Amino acid sequence: MAQLIVDRRDVDFVIFEQMDIANLSRYSRYKDFNKKTCDMVITEARNLAIKEILPTNAEGDKTGAKLENGRVKVPECFHKPYKAFCEGEWIAMTDDPEVGGQGMPVLLAQAAGEYFSGANTAFVMYPMLCHGTGKIIETIGTQEQKELYLSKLYSGQWGGTMVLTEPQAGSDLGALTTTAKSNGDGTYSISGQKTFITAADHDLTENIVYPVLARIEGAPAGTRGISLFLVSKYRVNPDGSLGQDNDVQVTAIEEKMGIHASATCQVSFGSKGQCIGTLLGPENKGLKGMFLMMNEERLNVGVQALSLGSAAYLYAVNYARERVQGKNLLEFMDANAPSVPIINHPDVRRMLLWMKTLVEGMRSMNYFTGRCFDMHLVAEDEEERARYLGLVEILVPILKAYCSDRAFEVCVQAMQVYGGYGYCQDYPVEQLARDCKITGIYEGANGIQAMDLLARQLGKQNGQVFMNLLAEMGKTIGQAKEYEELAPYAVKVETASAKLAELAMHMGKTAMSERVLTAFSAAYPFLLSMGDVVLAWMHLWRAVVALPKRNAILGGKTGTERGAIIAQNREAAFYEGQIKGCDFFVLSVLPETMGRMDGIVSTSDAAATMDEACFGGK
Ligand SMILES: Cc1cc2nc3c(=O)[nH]c(=O)nc-3n(C[C@H](O)[C@H](O)[C@H](O)COP(=O)(O)OP(=O)(O)OC[C@H]3O[C@@H](n4cnc5c(N)ncnc54)[C@H](O)[C@@H]3O)c2cc1C
Repeated sequence: MAQLIVDRRDVDFVIFEQMDIANLSRYSRYKDFNKKTCDMVITEARNLAIKEILPTNAEGDKTGAKLENGRVKVPECFHKPYKAFCEGEWIAMTDDPEVGGQGMPVLLAQAAGEYFSGANTAFVMYPMLCHGTGKIIETIGTQEQKELYLSKLYSGQWGGTMVLTEPQAGSDLGALTTTAKSNGDGTYSISGQKTFITAADHDLTENIVYPVLARIEGAPAGTRGISLFLVSKYRVNPDGSLGQDNDVQVTAIEEKMGIHASATCQVSFGSKGQCIGTLLGPENKGLKGMFLMMNEERLNVGVQALSLGSAAYLYAVNYARERVQGKNLLEFMDANAPSVPIINHPDVRRMLLWMKTLVEGMRSMNYFTGRCFDMHLVAEDEEERARYLGLVEILVPILKAYCSDRAFEVCVQAMQVYGGYGYCQDYPVEQLARDCKITGIYEGANGIQAMDLLARQLGKQNGQVFMNLLAEMGKTIGQAKEYEELAPYAVKVETASAKLAELAMHMGKTAMSERVLTAFSAAYPFLLSMGDVVLAWMHLWRAVVALPKRNAILGGKTGTERGAIIAQNREAAFYEGQIKGCDFFVLSVLPETMGRMDGIVSTSDAAATMDEACFGGK
């Protein structure tokens, strides 16, 4: 049962049947990634995840990362899978082979990433950060920085980090106070305290590299005066060997709700005045440099959240098949009726189907965004590339915030399916819920994502990017209307997308009016609504792909014959599950979204304008 962290059949469906990954191999960048190769990559990732990484998940949660004599130790069981991860060259999956990458489509890397993260999300943060740091250096580093650092990060020999947050500068990075003083020789002395820094120290690698946000003495206040610096735990000699200690000290690690084995560190840079760094990218453009990576990082968080929701759902559905409790509702008057597995109870089936549609819809949403990312790299004409980039940019805040919050709800629902056992540590779902919660907080808290969607993405190119997204939905709606069985769902998704378009206009106007604060108080429910409509579209799309395939297997059979085929033929059951998923999401979940959208239009000004004293609590 533990092997079912990700539903391989559903991954294959989305990758090969819905997103048609093989089509990407038409482009020279991805020419080596035909169906067979993609299939092999997913199988390899799955094997590593199930055999090497998953067995460390519960132990890592129990042991946690430890600070001993100023050094962080990860759980001992992490060392073997880390070595295997590096040897398998899984860190730089999507990067150019010339810089040590595998050159994979982002879409394919997402499938591999879903397995890794679902197996042990705390573990995966270590190699993921090697990649994030390497990618910044690859994109904006000098030739010398690339030569000294890149291959060691992409191979996992050195660890990576992202060093932004300070106690007084979380969402508002403009408030940061870490300083950089020029030494007159091209280097800077870095000094400051950072907090919540993941993997700032550990014993998986011989060195750790820090892209650090700091302010050069005399630089303007706020975000315009922030620069990015490259700092190494040990100074790096010109030949690439490691030199003296660089005065970077982890002073504490956080005791957290989840991801216990991922070290979340308080770090002191230059407490002895001996921390030397070099500029990474241009002076005062540090945030831009760091945020170059944000689309990718937030895509990763979307997949991370999805993977935890996916594991929680699969554990829950299997538990519901095994746990015997209560009688079939239709036989409840019969004292001699046998007890049945809880999957027979309508309320449990409701919970399971809700989880299934959320997880599968989020998988499609994530992979679609990954595919758009790929297309923005390979599409032949510039206009198309720009169109795909626009789709990525509008979808990224939605999928980061929507998937993290919805996946957490899925994990909580999984605990409910387990009953009291779900609340206990002997079963895996409570850990998944604890591990999942952070995805809504880091990489830009979800409220900030909603503000980004409203303030920056909706109005981009006079709303053209948003219209392009609606046009994509329109294509699927048109295809679905061709099928009599799907047409009623298509009409409902069409109505929802039209309502979303009206709501977007309303939000834009309100944000430009004297009720601007009210508009921003509704930014998050707006994001949630947009996520729901995207998911409804994804389910309609799934149904469009699945319906003819299901019908081909059923061969026109009806009644008990039809039922028997679905019960016995796994492919028929899978495709039928897609139609039922679309039915449930469009008829049972989407109406709630329609109501929420009404609520946003008629929203009261109270949240925005009520006097602070009225909140009470003092
Ligand atoms: C486990 C963990 C790992 C982390 N890893 C890293 C890391 O590797 N590197 C790193 O640099 N940081 C890391 N962080 C920090 C993380 O990115 C921050 O916690 C996050 O950015 C939020 O900052 P904050 O905690 O100071 O909350 P605050 O900024 O104080 O926000 C609190 C709440 O207020 C809201 N809020 C704040 N400002 C606004 C605004 N202007 N408008 C509307 N709402 C607002 C937020 O949405 C949030 O709900 C990590 C944090 C944790 C817990």
